[in-house]
Amino acid sequence: MYRSHTCGELRIENANQQVTLAGWVQTVRKFGAITFIDLRDRYGITQLLFGEELNNELDQSPLGREFVLQVKGMVNERSNKNANIATGDIEIKVESFKVLNKSAVPPFTIQDDTDGGDDLRMKYRYLDLRRNAVKKNLELRYAVNRSARNYLHENNFMDIETPFLIKSTPEGARDFVVPSRMNAGQFYALPQSPQTFKQLLMVSGYDRYYQIVKCFRDEDLRADRQPEFTQIDCEMCFVEQEDILNMFEGLIKQIFKDVKNIDYKETVERMSWEEAMWQYGNDKPDIRFGMKICNLKFPSHTFSSKENISSLINGADFKVFDEAETVVAIAVPGCSEYSRKQTDELTEWVKRPQIGMKGLVFIKVNTDGTFKSSVDKFYSEEKLKAIASATNASAGDLILILAGAEERTRKAISELRLEMGKRLGLRKENEFKLLWVLDFPLFEYAEEDNRWVARHHPFTSPKPSDIQVMINNNPVIENAADYLKHPYANIKANAYDMVLNGNEIGGGSIRIYQRELQEKMFAALGMDAAEQHHKFGFLLGAFEYGAPPHGGIAFGFDRLCSILGGSESIRDFIAFPKNNSGRDVMLDAPSTIDEKQFEELQIKLNLK
Ligand code: ASP
Repeated sequence: MYRSHTCGELRIENANQQVTLAGWVQTVRKFGAITFIDLRDRYGITQLLFGEELNNELDQSPLGREFVLQVKGMVNERSNKNANIATGDIEIKVESFKVLNKSAVPPFTIQDDTDGGDDLRMKYRYLDLRRNAVKKNLELRYAVNRSARNYLHENNFMDIETPFLIKSTPEGARDFVVPSRMNAGQFYALPQSPQTFKQLLMVSGYDRYYQIVKCFRDEDLRADRQPEFTQIDCEMCFVEQEDILNMFEGLIKQIFKDVKNIDYKETVERMSWEEAMWQYGNDKPDIRFGMKICNLKFPSHTFSSKENISSLINGADFKVFDEAETVVAIAVPGCSEYSRKQTDELTEWVKRPQIGMKGLVFIKVNTDGTFKSSVDKFYSEEKLKAIASATNASAGDLILILAGAEERTRKAISELRLEMGKRLGLRKENEFKLLWVLDFPLFEYAEEDNRWVARHHPFTSPKPSDIQVMINNNPVIENAADYLKHPYANIKANAYDMVLNGNEIGGGSIRIYQRELQEKMFAALGMDAAEQHHKFGFLLGAFEYGAPPHGGIAFGFDRLCSILGGSESIRDFIAFPKNNSGRDVMLDAPSTIDEKQFEELQIKLNLK
């Protein structure tokens, strides 16, 4: 028997028991003839006391950090208790010990505030994983996994594995491809998601499917992206959007309960995509705080149902506003006393290339009812008052206004809102706010090819009321500059995203399940019959054999964990992540392969 207890287990009640522990040496502290060692394992740390009688033996085989050690001894009450650790009331008076394995000096300290930089820790990830901070993240990940599985199991979902060596599934990213030796010159694609398989499972009658599954997308990486990542992937048949929203609100609420002990009682708010863009400037708004956008001016082809109030700002000889396509504002609460230095800093902030604005206009709504603005020359006090009232500003607020081209300006005001929310402490780490964003556009315009692409994926159904618009109109865009006037630009999808604190944590749709409509969809995306048959013949074929109405959703598992764990990066929640260039620095992958492997694959490199 290697151990009778773990290093996190023993308490004062165990005093005078004979025990055997095994673990890693965290620290060695020598005090004259006695030596204290902290022994660590996954469960905790236990203090060991080596008395004088073991001195010789210790001298012969000195113990270093990370040595693997087995000790036998007696549990004793400590005279000097440590309230910071669970085993702090006791120590083990060691009677005999055995070095199970030595360790080289680790390249960084295995503790929470380690001295190891990111690269070094990734290179020695197996050591990094010994650290408590990392272990906590993996424990949280496992808790989310367990909670999801329990909930889905309770609700009759069946976990069914789907293959990794497949043919391209279009989720809008580049595929990773794998050459086939047995079929020389041919390639598998790794799944960007199990999308088509889960739909086929519906055709097969497995009416509730789920899988916690790896997906592969060859995209440029950011802190919260990995080339391989995990989804909680789900599909149901005989459901409408409402059924899906209810079922998966339930899932996330259960995870909140199990993992964070949060009883999320409120119904999850819902907002149309258009409303999200109008009020927040993006499709995954953080609704933990208000500061909604005031649309002072916007191009007539967007938000056609909204009232235009541009007369408030136009015609005052202020060119920036007169000439801008879009003018948008937010009222930042309680910041009217910002100094010149602070408003200058904000101006610099919006001018950064990532934001890309030319400048920032501000209006201070002073607490005495007066106004002070950077455009006093152009706007009378009365006008400023009217603008302030349109933005819903109160006394003491600072109104920030951006002007420019629609897309960029809307994105910029959205970023500025989030930044101000952060600076004012309104994006509280321990507050969780869920939101469903609904009614997304079905298509997105792809400028480089002057054609439509699926905003979600090509299996998403249009709103029933828009099906005829899709069928009756030619997808060809005659005039690229006017693509927004094409009837396709306004077609809405049966698609939904779940948003948590400003992050998209899941997305899905009600699918197309009739062959004819699916063919029309492919055609709208510019696929002729031959290409449809080549790429998706299997799915079109399956739709001939009694495909039921169905829909589903997939959650970004890594991201969900990172938000629940209060971290910006999903890498912290993945045992063996890749770095920002998609490399595994521990394995040194990707790497070249042997000449022999190239020969077997009948592949020749032609690097440019
Ligand atoms: N397969 C989709 C995705 O990966 C999710 C879904 O539509 O269920 O985004």
